[in-house]
Amino acid sequence: MNPTITPVPPSPPSRPVAVIGGGITGLCAAWHLRQRGVPVVVFEARGNPGGVTDSVREGDWLLETGPNTLFENSPEVTALLAGLGLYDRRREAAPDANKRYVVRRGKLVALPGSALSFFTSRLLSWRAKLGVLLEPFRRRGPAGREESVAEFVTRRLGPEFLDYIVNPFVAGIYAGDPASLSVSQAFPKLAALEREHRSLILGGLKRRNASAGPRGSMISFPDGLAELPRALARSLGDDLRLNQPVRYVRRDGPHWRLGYLAGERIAEEEFSAVVCALSPDALARLVLENVPEAAGLAVLREIPQPPVASVFMGFRREDVGHPLDGFGVLTPAVEQRRILGTLFSSTLFPGRAPAGHVALTTFVGGVRQPELARADDAALLESVQSELAFLLGVRGQPVITRVQRWPRAIAQYEVGFQRFKDACAAVEAASPGLFLGGTCRDGVSLSHCIGAGKRLAEAVVTAQIAA
Ligand SMILES: Cc1cc2nc3c(=O)[nH]c(=O)nc-3n(C[C@H](O)[C@H](O)[C@H](O)COP(=O)(O)OP(=O)(O)OC[C@H]3O[C@@H](n4cnc5c(N)ncnc54)[C@H](O)[C@@H]3O)c2cc1C
Repeated sequence: MNPTITPVPPSPPSRPVAVIGGGITGLCAAWHLRQRGVPVVVFEARGNPGGVTDSVREGDWLLETGPNTLFENSPEVTALLAGLGLYDRRREAAPDANKRYVVRRGKLVALPGSALSFFTSRLLSWRAKLGVLLEPFRRRGPAGREESVAEFVTRRLGPEFLDYIVNPFVAGIYAGDPASLSVSQAFPKLAALEREHRSLILGGLKRRNASAGPRGSMISFPDGLAELPRALARSLGDDLRLNQPVRYVRRDGPHWRLGYLAGERIAEEEFSAVVCALSPDALARLVLENVPEAAGLAVLREIPQPPVASVFMGFRREDVGHPLDGFGVLTPAVEQRRILGTLFSSTLFPGRAPAGHVALTTFVGGVRQPELARADDAALLESVQSELAFLLGVRGQPVITRVQRWPRAIAQYEVGFQRFKDACAAVEAASPGLFLGGTCRDGVSLSHCIGAGKRLAEAVVTAQIAA
């Protein structure tokens, strides 16, 4: 294919803002811009909106290919759902899902949910429990040095707490390694607790007492998380351009010209501003012409985004020995399992499996075992099934299996991550009208991405008012 340039149609007097990337970040940025009366066009490379967020119904099964839960923990998330008319469709995770399991010596042990269960739990030894009790008496860490999550947690709570509580949770959130992740970048609230209150336990209690109201809920929707990008896409109508990957962005005086693939041709259009809402690797690949400092974005290629495979399996209820009375199970690296963890999907949100069946979603790979996420389907399914047999007492064959691979899944906020944020800020400062956001600088969870969308829209509006 040899793309040719088609003539540019005459621009309307008020040029819209272009948003590149139709994942949650880009769709939210566009939605907020429209709410503020700013015309906007979203370019999405793929044939459906939502980026890594998608839900698939197959008969009575409902599976998520990427994220499974949205943490409704900020006014931005609640306001977005209300604004989209989705608030009444939100479904909180089932009460059973408050229980979370971690593997210890090959067995599932419930994570303590109260002070009393902390003392009676088999998850930590008495020595480790004593270490946790001494946390309020420990001094702050060394100022001016960026610590890894592992260094921070070992210093404050001890090595066993790191191995059996923090390590599996880091696998569950980032598919990452606490020894590489930066505590201030990956878990800024945790770092702030020590900075502001000296102790995580005392600071946590103070914050809990000070903040009235609910602490946030894990939610989804009857047709899965994809209801969110689908509703955002509907609100954009024809201004969401699917299957139109942007090939280059060129600064042209006060305007921006975008070259995008339209069928087999490269078409060009002019915009007043450009918002890039891309994963770090996609942003590093985007050609930015006549943009000072743009070469500095090549550094984003250094952000690790390890592969993850999401393996969905459905079983007859009687073929699974475990009661599946929880959110799911996570595996600490020291246990040397071949999965990062499994969600009890049909417990978490009822209505995801036919009557008499259960649905399990297992994550494989990450920083810990990237090679396992690249195994062929047969090897991957066999490995997951044997892990589920060992951990959950699964006996029979699955009645449904689906594999979704993410070759570059979640950005790792490692020690030194600030340099990536600085590279983004340098490009923006040198090129008014260009805005960068999403997982390269705003955080990786869906609620971070929703916040990022709002931040980007506000930055555009502020800049346009100032101009
Ligand atoms: C397996 C997995 C499980 C997860 N689980 C959870 C969870 O349970 N809860 C949670 O909160 N978070 C979870 N996350 C994280 C969260 O889902 C993501 O960080 C978030 O969805 C990223 O959204 P985004 O819009 O920033 O990026 P993306 O979803 O990556 O969207 C970027 C979009 O840009 C498009 N694009 C790329 N290049 C171009 C181009 N040149 N032109 C036009 N379009 C382009 C892509 O096609 C894509 O649609 C999970 C992530 C993964 C991978």
